[in-house]
Amino acid sequence: MNHYIIFLFVFILERGICFENCKPNIAIIGGGIGGAASSHFLTELFKNNLNIDLYEAKTIGGRLATIQMDDNEFEAGGSIIHPENKYMQEFVKLLGLEHVPSNNQRAGIWNGEEFVFEESNWEIVSLAKLFYKYGIQPFSLNRYINSIVNSFAKIYNLQDAGKSFENITSFLTVMNAEFPKLLQISIKQYLLNLGYAEKLIDEIVKATSVVNYGQDTNIHSFVGSVSLAGAGFNLWSVKGGNKKVPEHLIYRNRNVNIVPSCVTKIVNVPIENGTNLYEVHYRNKDSTTVMKSTYDIVIVATPLIRDQEFPIIFEGFPNNDLHSIGKYHKTRVTFVQADLKPNYFGLIEGIDAILSCEPNKTIVSSVGKLSSVDGLMKHSRVWKIFSNTPLKEGIINEMFSNINAVKEIVWDAYPEYSTEIHEAKFKLHNALYHVNAIEWAASAMEMSAISGKNIAILAHENFSQKCNFKRTQQTQADVPENTPSIEL
Ligand SMILES: Cc1cc2nc3c(=O)[nH]c(=O)nc-3n(C[C@H](O)[C@H](O)[C@H](O)COP(=O)(O)OP(=O)(O)OC[C@H]3O[C@@H](n4cnc5c(N)ncnc54)[C@H](O)[C@@H]3O)c2cc1C
Repeated sequence: MNHYIIFLFVFILERGICFENCKPNIAIIGGGIGGAASSHFLTELFKNNLNIDLYEAKTIGGRLATIQMDDNEFEAGGSIIHPENKYMQEFVKLLGLEHVPSNNQRAGIWNGEEFVFEESNWEIVSLAKLFYKYGIQPFSLNRYINSIVNSFAKIYNLQDAGKSFENITSFLTVMNAEFPKLLQISIKQYLLNLGYAEKLIDEIVKATSVVNYGQDTNIHSFVGSVSLAGAGFNLWSVKGGNKKVPEHLIYRNRNVNIVPSCVTKIVNVPIENGTNLYEVHYRNKDSTTVMKSTYDIVIVATPLIRDQEFPIIFEGFPNNDLHSIGKYHKTRVTFVQADLKPNYFGLIEGIDAILSCEPNKTIVSSVGKLSSVDGLMKHSRVWKIFSNTPLKEGIINEMFSNINAVKEIVWDAYPEYSTEIHEAKFKLHNALYHVNAIEWAASAMEMSAISGKNIAILAHENFSQKCNFKRTQQTQADVPENTPSIEL
């Protein structure tokens, strides 16, 4: 073997060793769709050369969950997926799951005294009624929302090209320079400025923000637009429950080690050359013993709010207060297996969905008939009620007859949206990231998936740079000075 070949062999071996050293240890905190998507995209970018410990304090799926009523399961958290949600579509395909199209429900908008708008069983009649009541504005609003959806879709090509963003403003700006401004103006004011009628905003737009986010039209206009997009056509969900997506993404990934524990603390541990590692402190659900592990990269995939169920302390950071200044909105979901009493709502015949445009008056934000998650039971007797306050038994008895079962779930559902500027950051520290920063722009399954990809790109880029730097240092230390360069 001549010297050149030996050198080449050593060189390849050395790169191999370095490559092995450059296998990151990653902690993901939270096994909802955000944590699951992060684990998936990281695995793709690092080409399986990584270790992931995924900490979950409760149940994989997080806010994607189902509830059992009678012998059937129903969506209890995130339910509806938009047809343009590329990552949710791709996950379903990749995992061999199936779609269930959303039921065509006959809905009405209720203000507590009367139905200000009621759909017909015939779509053409509903459209005519819409035109008769609001003129062409609902149709131009639909076009406006489609244009927002189209601008937003630019994110997919940008992410495919490896673009990443450290905060919400840079993330939104790259899709449309106007988007960050939408965070600073309420959907009501924004649409009024565009010339939309107050009646349309106070009825149709408000009914969508109340049903989707439990909040009024004083929410900022970016999330207000996402909410309107969620009222579109061809909506769908995952057969068997949307939670199947995070479950399969996590359980099928052989690089992911699930740690069924609650993370209590993240400590920044400086090491040589200004670099650092992170110590993650955690304890099992039923134990007080705290354990710890060390990581190159930590991804927080759960909201960071002051009153969160499983608080996380930060230690050793330049600023240890990494929690968001805002609050999360509590949404109560009550499931009732019963028959609706149309006369309670001033109706003569039944209806599938009632959306409130005056939640203070109506107590409930919405009442809707459910289909089971397997798509088989299209018209169950199970109704889902969203409300901002607990429902007294008396109210349930007034709304329903033949009640067989009542169950309630209280969610810290999504941020309490306002127009106060709130610069949420994806990158909290060198290699510490936060998936749920995106929720301050809008909370939705696809948003968490997009954020997971953004963070995977950021983390991969940052870690590769560190590795290349180490590799160069190592090579410089190993190669004696004046070594002749070799032409191959
Ligand atoms: C009632 C309701 C209806 C909704 N409807 C829709 C809809 O129709 N369409 C839509 O797209 N979106 C909807 N959403 C929003 C959507 O569900 C969420 O945006 C999305 O599921 C958030 O996912 P995530 O992974 O980012 O967070 P989460 O799902 O909240 O996951 C965070 C996980 O972290 C775990 N965790 C928290 N703290 C710790 C800790 N210290 N240590 C370890 N683990 C921890 C939690 O247990 C949880 O499992 C709805 C939400 C709710 C509540």
